[in-house]
Amino acid sequence: MSTTLITNIGVLVTNDPGVPGCGPGPLAPVPDAAVVIDGDRFVWAGPARDAPAADAVHDAGGRAALPGFVDSHSHLVFAGDRTAEFDARMSGQPYRAGGIRTTVAATRAASDTQLEAGLTRYLAEALRQGTTTVETKSGYGLTVHDEARALEIAARHTDEVTYLGAHIVAPEYADDPAGYVDLVTGPMLDACAPHARWVDVFCERGAFDGDQARAVLTAGMERGLTPRVHANQLGHGPGVRLAVELGAASADHCTHLTDADIDALASGSTVATLLPGAEFSTRAPWPDARRLLDAGVVLALSTDCNPGSSFTSSVPFCIALAVRDMGMTPDEAVWSATAGGAAALRRTDIGRVTPGARADLVLLDAPSTVHLAYRPGVPLVTDVWRGGRKEV
Ligand SMILES: [Zn+2]
Repeated sequence: MSTTLITNIGVLVTNDPGVPGCGPGPLAPVPDAAVVIDGDRFVWAGPARDAPAADAVHDAGGRAALPGFVDSHSHLVFAGDRTAEFDARMSGQPYRAGGIRTTVAATRAASDTQLEAGLTRYLAEALRQGTTTVETKSGYGLTVHDEARALEIAARHTDEVTYLGAHIVAPEYADDPAGYVDLVTGPMLDACAPHARWVDVFCERGAFDGDQARAVLTAGMERGLTPRVHANQLGHGPGVRLAVELGAASADHCTHLTDADIDALASGSTVATLLPGAEFSTRAPWPDARRLLDAGVVLALSTDCNPGSSFTSSVPFCIALAVRDMGMTPDEAVWSATAGGAAALRRTDIGRVTPGARADLVLLDAPSTVHLAYRPGVPLVTDVWRGGRKEV
């Protein structure tokens, strides 16, 4: 296996206070830095002057570098288009969970080839913007066959696959939501569990209540899946506390939180994943990241990329929103979009630049990662390595 030295990095975000030469703070930045990649792993990181020799050398030209973004929440297996719904919403109509039905109809009608082509297109789009790990979900099929095929397609492209049969009640079960929960926790789970790592539920008025969500998550856990929860996006509710009680890896959205919800998150091991693309695209109130951070809650920051409520694959865009409107510092936002996303996926091999971690590295045409928020909308990502391979 040949080694590659990437040197002349202006500042390297490592997210690992154990890396030699790093400064203070959770980003553990190393000025005038270098890394060495061997195969798909980092084998060295630190000050460039101390770097060992390698078979090949890449000069970063003084650019800032950081771990590849970890987008721990997306919905990329879908077909169809909801431009008209967005247009109407921006003309004054409120967002409702039921808009998902439009995508369900289009997804059921699409071929496997069409669904996979869409998925690979959005993954490539994300990669060009620095995202090297993507979690994605089912949830637009809502039949045994369509949920299972969505997961099979997703699993061909990422290890982080989530069963979200409980996205909304399938239209065929509109008058029998209990019957749909039985399907999701029975035959649909049987077909889907082999293809997924996670089980998720949209715990919200208009989707699934606390008791239904508990049934879905515990059934998934009995089949070896680990829970994550769409919680407290549109209003207050039991989702966040249920997530913490069941030891979910992540409670996602967390837009409407009581003090009890925040106390629960601060006392448990559940990461709060904030998804400001959804608030942006629905003109909804922002989640209060500052309140969560001050309470000691671990945050992830992700795109929620989906055709209805957040059709962005751009983590840098979400970082800019989080800094501008949610009370995060630029450093906190960068940490949440890298190490925080890794924590939300219970991964220690990504989201950090440290020996042994997967060699996922992004270079920015900027002197520091503050520019991700300081220069919103500007395509700053110039180079991306994923698993040691230069992809961009
Ligand atoms: Zn979502």
